[in-house]
Amino acid sequence: SNRNLFAILARNFPKDPGAPLLETANGAVRSYHEMLELSARIGRTLLAASAKPGERLMVQVEKTPEAIALYLAALRIGAIYLPLNTGYRRDEVEYFLTDAAPKVVVVTPGSPLADESLIKDHGARMLTLDAEGRGSLIDAAQRQPAEIEDFECDDATIAAILYTSGTTGKPKGAMLSHGNLSSNAAALHEIWRFEPRDRLLHALPIFHTHGLFVALNTTLLNGTSMVFLKHFDAAEVIRLLPRVTVMMGVPTFYTRLLASPEFGRDCCRDMRLFISGSAPLTVETFNAFKERTGHTILERYGMTEANMITSNPYQRDRVAGSVGFPLPGVSLRIADDQGKPLKQGEVGGIEVKGPNIFQGYWRNPEKTKSEFRADGFFITGDVGRIDERGYVHIVGRSKDLIISGGFNVYPKEVESVIDTLPGVAESAVIGVPHADFGEGVVAVVVGKPGAQLAEKQIAEATRDHLAAYKAPKAVFLVEQLPRNAMGKVEKAKLRETYKATFA
Ligand code: ATP
Ligand code: MG
Repeated sequence: SNRNLFAILARNFPKDPGAPLLETANGAVRSYHEMLELSARIGRTLLAASAKPGERLMVQVEKTPEAIALYLAALRIGAIYLPLNTGYRRDEVEYFLTDAAPKVVVVTPGSPLADESLIKDHGARMLTLDAEGRGSLIDAAQRQPAEIEDFECDDATIAAILYTSGTTGKPKGAMLSHGNLSSNAAALHEIWRFEPRDRLLHALPIFHTHGLFVALNTTLLNGTSMVFLKHFDAAEVIRLLPRVTVMMGVPTFYTRLLASPEFGRDCCRDMRLFISGSAPLTVETFNAFKERTGHTILERYGMTEANMITSNPYQRDRVAGSVGFPLPGVSLRIADDQGKPLKQGEVGGIEVKGPNIFQGYWRNPEKTKSEFRADGFFITGDVGRIDERGYVHIVGRSKDLIISGGFNVYPKEVESVIDTLPGVAESAVIGVPHADFGEGVVAVVVGKPGAQLAEKQIAEATRDHLAAYKAPKAVFLVEQLPRNAMGKVEKAKLRETYKATFA
């Protein structure tokens, strides 16, 4: 049978043609039937513009129902869907255009990529889709028939190229196959116990694995609907939570909800599940959320290259500070620098294998080769350990690991201590060059509103809880930490800012 992700999802679409798929904040509803028809029309338009199977379809558009139809259309025609962060500027999009060599580019007018001559110079066709869901793509689609034959393919056929978030360096294009995406959607659908009554609150961007694949594909596989918001807005989410049963978010969604005094048990009464991922959820947030709402946030771990890798359990204990167990079908090991598995409880590199792992970096076979072990395990670049109950704990990224005076310092351990100090909202711990120690530990700290914090006191307080080599040698108080679109703290930026601290 056809292993095209769309075909697999469509087998579970509701029989009732009027069944809703998307509801926007103003209450407008798009049914499954409407979305199917629109995706067929768009698919034909793209084919006519020569987005043939295997060709890249580059997309930098606002979050609209039409953009979802565009994603579905790409799957249906076998073109490789390649969404870009809407925050990328001109220099960045030029790099992606050259790197990805797309045949068709869909842009929002006014965006850095919306330059027809630039796109033509790269041998591609430009079509537009604006923030209201209008544009030349939709105009052309309206003239096309509302059905299409879905492209037949196998599990290994590339469905999408997603660029990584660029937290540690230049974004890398991860090639994801139909099988990577369908196997992951099925695993998540099962372990998170999706139900016919479920309705998802979707406030994530749709250019990233979290909002695009985790959120959409599980919902489509469930044949149910979502409340579809352009952005996360705490007041709006609080108003809409009573209409949904599941929410997926990055940790900042949860801290922003907790910062709203009106957020509490009332609006969460019908909620079945709150899921967090893409960045570490602090123990403080986990506990505060439980106290305020009675709900235990379920944290999971994944990455662009691997889709979702682990998840806390649905039924058993959800452990604060842990990302849970490997998903069904996924193998995970903690290994040393040579890929040799370490003993249970030891800290080392997280390596994974399974149907979820990508097909390689786009046009970068050397990079692909260097990130895989001979036995097929993918080196995630994250560092972690497995506790005695089998829960995986992430302690940081190997690139963020600090080596001070020959000792390993895991930033998360230091951050956890600082975050529990009175008046501290959050912190980021980094290593910067130090003449004596190689690297010196630096803490960048954000205080709670109104808190009277002193840099020296923070440094002293940490020394009560940490060995001297782990305690920060310098502390800086800031208004906020630099974060990217997925709410990840940009430690590379911080290392740059504070690089001369010990010079
Ligand atoms: P780049 O690879 O370009 O530097 P990136 O790794 O941030 O960017 P993504 O693929 O979006 O790009 O993010 C994956 C990473 O996010 C993981 O490798 C991990 O470090 C982090 N991450 C995801 N979920 C969690 C989680 N629950 N807890 C801690 N870290 C997480
Ligand atoms: Mg990465």
